[in-house]
Amino acid sequence: MQAFLDQVAGFATDRVAPAAAGWSMGQSPDAAIVAEAAALGLFGMEVPVAQGGAGLDFATRTQACAILAGADFGFAMSLVNTHNIALRLCQIAPPDLRDQYLPSLLSGQTSACTALTEPGTGSDFAAVTTTARQHRDGWRLNGEKTWIINGRHAGLSIVYAQCASPGDASGIGAFLVDLTAPGVTRYAIDAGFAQTSMGTGGFRFNDVALPTQARLIAPGTAFKAILTEINAARTYVAAMCNAMMSAAIETVQSHGAIRHSFGKPLNAIPSWQSHLADAVAALDASRAVTAKAVALVTNGEDAQLAAAEAKIAAVTSAQTHLPELLQLMGAEGLRPEHPFTRHLAAAQIAGFTDGATNILKDRVEKLTAKQRT
Ligand SMILES: Cc1cc2nc3c(=O)[nH]c(=O)nc-3n(C[C@H](O)[C@H](O)[C@H](O)COP(=O)(O)OP(=O)(O)OC[C@H]3O[C@@H](n4cnc5c(N)ncnc54)[C@H](O)[C@@H]3O)c2cc1C
Repeated sequence: MQAFLDQVAGFATDRVAPAAAGWSMGQSPDAAIVAEAAALGLFGMEVPVAQGGAGLDFATRTQACAILAGADFGFAMSLVNTHNIALRLCQIAPPDLRDQYLPSLLSGQTSACTALTEPGTGSDFAAVTTTARQHRDGWRLNGEKTWIINGRHAGLSIVYAQCASPGDASGIGAFLVDLTAPGVTRYAIDAGFAQTSMGTGGFRFNDVALPTQARLIAPGTAFKAILTEINAARTYVAAMCNAMMSAAIETVQSHGAIRHSFGKPLNAIPSWQSHLADAVAALDASRAVTAKAVALVTNGEDAQLAAAEAKIAAVTSAQTHLPELLQLMGAEGLRPEHPFTRHLAAAQIAGFTDGATNILKDRVEKLTAKQRT
């Protein structure tokens, strides 16, 4: 376990961090680095050994994701999204579908994604309008998914689609979609900052033919299944935000020891130190909440409240303190070889993915109100 995490740390320091500066300015991760990630077993961390994975537990997977995110959140998110589809195939796909796609996911040849969000709906997942209609030899898929991690290059997706009437949460099913199939078109999404290492993009489905067995989760259970799965995602995203904070704090600490101003090192200036101390305290608090969620998810216990609290704490802490940490660096902090600007953008993204912060706050309020009564 520790040997694996040490290897991941070496990969993050030696390969991911140096490349991330280029990714933050629009370059894309190359095939060599993806192959190295695959050789390390990063696409099969929680996949059972019998299926060619490493059979690690959720806690170890989360630590690996966090180590990678300390160097580049986008690259880590891209890897873990492919990993999640590999894991789902092992958990819920018919064996022949699993065996058809799993080897190319584990080898990094094919990337994959989970597609819920649409142009007209994000937070309100029950309102998805992509439809899957039964056809004599299977299903026909129509609609559009947008803001999807790995959307630019993914070969495979689990797509959530409405099988009944619009707005009916119990009518939503989940379908395995080969994104190279006729009728699928894709587009890249750019923001005011580069999205290349995350591969953000979208798809349009125009009467895409799916075999009967492509329906992985039947209507009636897909809505609940995604809400359960999302607790794990919220938890590892929290750990990834903590890792970005930690990387930024370490960089500031090193800089503060060597950069002099008015004849003394920055770290000898009380007001400079006090901002750093605030960030360290916030990180410690956020790590404690995250550890609780990691333990619950790892043990298969109810993590709904803990995962939401962890993500709120970690995202808010990163969004609050990363700008202050950048400020402590002076102009030097803007250089792309330092992680501040890409981690800032990533903290904003983390505030949307797997449940926007407002939505999570409302969830926490509802769950704790229940506990109070
Ligand atoms: C870089 C990136 C990658 C992503 N990757 C994926 C992916 O791989 N797969 C996928 O399916 N989706 C993905 N998403 C989409 C993400 O899940 C959505 O952005 C998120 O669900 C929020 O939806 P929205 O952006 O449409 O915001 P909206 O739902 O339009 O909400 C806008 C704002 O209003 C708030 N709000 C909305 N409704 C309420 C309410 N009832 N109460 C309180 N506040 C509310 C929200 O919190 C938010 O702040 C990604 C997004 C980004 C930015």
